[in-house]
Amino acid sequence: MRQFAVVGSGPAGFYTAEALAKAFGDKARVDIIDRYPVPYGLIRFGVAPDHQSLKAVSKRYDQVAESEGVSFVGNVTVGRDVSAKELLDLYDAVVLAIGAPHDRKLGIPGEDLPGVVGSAEFVGWYNGHPDFADLAPPLGGTHAVVVGNGNVALDCVRVLSKNRHEFEGSDIVGHALEALDGSDVRTVTILGRRGPHQISMTPKELGELGHLEAATPVVDAADFPPIEEDSALEPGHRKSITILREFASAGPDSSKPKRILFDFFAKPLRIEGDGKAERLLVERTMLDERGAAIGTGETYDVPASLVVTSIGYQTPRIDGVPYDDRGGKFANDHGLIADRLYAVGWARRGPTGTIGTNRPDGYEVAERIASAMPPGTDGGRGGGEGLTALLAKRGVRPTNFDDWHRIEAAEVAAARPGSPREKFVRQEDWLKVLGR
Ligand code: NAP
Repeated sequence: MRQFAVVGSGPAGFYTAEALAKAFGDKARVDIIDRYPVPYGLIRFGVAPDHQSLKAVSKRYDQVAESEGVSFVGNVTVGRDVSAKELLDLYDAVVLAIGAPHDRKLGIPGEDLPGVVGSAEFVGWYNGHPDFADLAPPLGGTHAVVVGNGNVALDCVRVLSKNRHEFEGSDIVGHALEALDGSDVRTVTILGRRGPHQISMTPKELGELGHLEAATPVVDAADFPPIEEDSALEPGHRKSITILREFASAGPDSSKPKRILFDFFAKPLRIEGDGKAERLLVERTMLDERGAAIGTGETYDVPASLVVTSIGYQTPRIDGVPYDDRGGKFANDHGLIADRLYAVGWARRGPTGTIGTNRPDGYEVAERIASAMPPGTDGGRGGGEGLTALLAKRGVRPTNFDDWHRIEAAEVAAARPGSPREKFVRQEDWLKVLGR
């Protein structure tokens, strides 16, 4: 019998567990460890609450968690409750699937002012992440800025722009819904340091901005290169640019009270204000021959009492695990970090790709593991039983998948009308459901 630990229960963790279970059948046990009693990582805490169809993939993960030989071990933090080295003593292979939940920093003056938040914090706040429950982003000003031209930036812009009833059917947490309902924000500027051709936004997500009830996109046609240059773009990307061009030619819908201003070729230099964010000093850029943004020296102010920086994520470090500073992920060679220690998903590749990208990634690493220790061989390690004994000595009480189902049932029972659930946000609320 082989014993495997997968650390992290987001998409990358679940696809890896699924692949290991398929490759080894009844010749292995797979423990999916998570720091929270609730599973699914990015699906629960990252995917936008109004994108419920994307979250449906968790049903597939349920089947994995409930399959023979796979266990969910929640409420256990690797690096605090148990070290990576201890896990390697207990398991034949350890796969780190902890994602990239920390914000990259802009590294400009004023970034620490109140009113400046990273997208991981902002998204975590409206998605019920316990670390960001108390974020209270300031929504009392009329102007907000989102920095970055990726899909996460689009999520943040859309959430800031929607009316209350546009969240019907979503699982946005109650505290965020109430705060957004009372928001005074009327203009959200989305800053890109490069141009329309350099966006990292996908067509479906961009297209949604054209169908908002109270907000209208504003795009300047002068920012685009000649239309002939679109033909060289990859088809999906070309579709995104076509949508942007349509926004530009349609012009803003004057019947809508909120504006989403696309400000391209705009690099933030400094965030300023009297004890809190009030405006961004921005430099106009142009592209050099390699396509990088270079400053032109022309600067201007953009008002903003809320600044959301959405410029990418990084993986947190775990003591004793080699780290790639530049990439913001674990140092690894095709998923292999060190003997019997692997990384998958964003912890392996960095923060790019969709949920589905993690499937081949997890399967590839599972294959590597299967060829290093073929099914039918035995490593003689303690596995889950050993882990349970170690945690008991430390006073740590893990949760299992049945516990999650009890929490989930309580969340569904607490749902407001039209919402699939009211997420419980704090660790103590989850544990209270379990009578702890
Ligand atoms: P991303 O796609 O890598 O976009 C990051 C953006 O930040 C880029 O526009 C980048 O511009 C900009 N940026 C980076 N450093 C900057 C700086 N110092 N100053 C100004 N701008 C800076 O990352 P993401 O939006 O966090 O998304 C992560 C992944 O999740 C992506 O693969 C995304 O597609 C995926 N995702 C998918 C969905 C969905 O399918 N619905 C939703 C959310 C996220 P440059 O190009 O100039 O570097």
